[in-house]
Amino acid sequence: MTFTLAIVGRPNVGKSTLFNRLVGKRLALVDDQPGVTRDLREGAARLGDLRFTVIDTAGLEDATDESLQGRMRKLTERAVEMADVCLFLIDARAGVTPTDEGLAEILRKRSDHVILAANKAEGTRADAGVIEAYALGLGEPIRLSAEHGEGLNDLYAQLMPLADEFAKRAEAEAPETDIDLDEEEDDAQAFSQPTRARPMQVAVVGRPNAGKSTLINTILGEDRLLTGPEAGITRDAISVQIDWDGLPMRIFDTAGMRKKARIEDKLEKLSVSDGLRAVRFAEVVIVLLDAAIPFEQQDLRIADLAEREGRAVVVAVNKWDVEPEKQKKLRELREAFERLLPQLRGAPLIAVSARTGKGLDRLREAVAKAYDVWNRRVTTAQLNRWLTGMLEQHPPPAPGGKRIKLRYMTQAKTRPPGFVVMCSHPDKLPESYSRYLVNGLRDSFDMPGTPIRLYMRSQS
Ligand code: GDP
Ligand code: GDP
Repeated sequence: MTFTLAIVGRPNVGKSTLFNRLVGKRLALVDDQPGVTRDLREGAARLGDLRFTVIDTAGLEDATDESLQGRMRKLTERAVEMADVCLFLIDARAGVTPTDEGLAEILRKRSDHVILAANKAEGTRADAGVIEAYALGLGEPIRLSAEHGEGLNDLYAQLMPLADEFAKRAEAEAPETDIDLDEEEDDAQAFSQPTRARPMQVAVVGRPNAGKSTLINTILGEDRLLTGPEAGITRDAISVQIDWDGLPMRIFDTAGMRKKARIEDKLEKLSVSDGLRAVRFAEVVIVLLDAAIPFEQQDLRIADLAEREGRAVVVAVNKWDVEPEKQKKLRELREAFERLLPQLRGAPLIAVSARTGKGLDRLREAVAKAYDVWNRRVTTAQLNRWLTGMLEQHPPPAPGGKRIKLRYMTQAKTRPPGFVVMCSHPDKLPESYSRYLVNGLRDSFDMPGTPIRLYMRSQS
């Protein structure tokens, strides 16, 4: 399964250079003269493990031509129709021009998936242009240097969740499918789909003796499809790939590292940096608490770290088998959670027994859901409808008699979800208003357990 990416932008921003880089062959002519290349060209592109079709919309010869705007509009519209995703390039050195603004408007209206990139961003000369690009209302710009191959990782990070989404969509649309997917239950069933493109990366963190090794061993023990330990991303990080009831995942094995820690007799010290490394590795972090001593300093620190690093978080309370007053305890834990970790509001709290395996089904479901939420993309149209409602319900303050205006909102990124709001005086908007919006996003779009980033940008 593949998708189509159109590279759009005014002449001379570096579209052909990027096209060549993605296609890997020098198919297109590149020249300092604007618009040397003449046609809409297609090529087979690869970026990391992604394979897709790329369209280059070069083909406008003369930047001073009066009909340029019209032709560029047509060409861009054609590209939008052909493509699943548009990559909109601006020249970070030149800054945002009126032509860029015109194209951005078309893209905002016509395309569901636009990735904004400020090209020629190598070095600091481009900083101002990158910041200006926010004002286009197309989310956070990727800093790109097509010529030097910089920023391609960020492009990959934005394309990957979309690629997954297109793959899922294609699967759902495939005629020979024998699963009758009920539309409304799509979300609930997402975690039982056996065909996730790549394993999600999961880490179990928590204080020593919380039961991390036991939990991982129980999951592994129940699972016959263990493919064996392999070296993880960082040199001494060990991860194991498993298939947890049809959910492929790679679990960061802190247990293995703890053995090393014991030998070196530096348990406390190492377990903090282990946790840190595990969080960096993971997409979903399971914070495992000991029910008898929950929310210790170390637990709070690691949960906070996971939030700051932008990971999806699931809290599991272990040793539930020996908990005498389960109902009362659960209430206390929820209350403590809200109070001590307000930044993780809504994250799931699951009682488990790593030893008996009780509660692990629910943990698995919570992990799958958290991962999906972390990857979720809300359309710009939905967001702006929502924003209008939020503004009516509770208008922003008017310091000095001038009301702060929030004009436009778009999702800039996923993993975790990040949103840009165009705002008349971002520096004057109180923190409480941002919180109101973040909490509203969580509730309205069902996004518990994931950090949500909100960027206020001025539209000067
Ligand atoms: P197009 O008209 O949008 O297809 O732009 P081209 O790919 O033909 O590039 C226009 C000019 O910008 C060429 O001289 C490229 O070498 C240059 N260029 C492209 N990408 C970069 C970049 O990342 N950094 C710098 N400094 N120049 C670039
Ligand atoms: P780690 O340091 O976080 O890896 O913790 P371990 O997995 O080594 O477990 C620490 C201790 O807690 C061991 O004695 C385990 O047997 C015990 N333990 C782990 N999970 C459970 C559980 O669900 N219930 C009970 N009662 N004990 C558990």
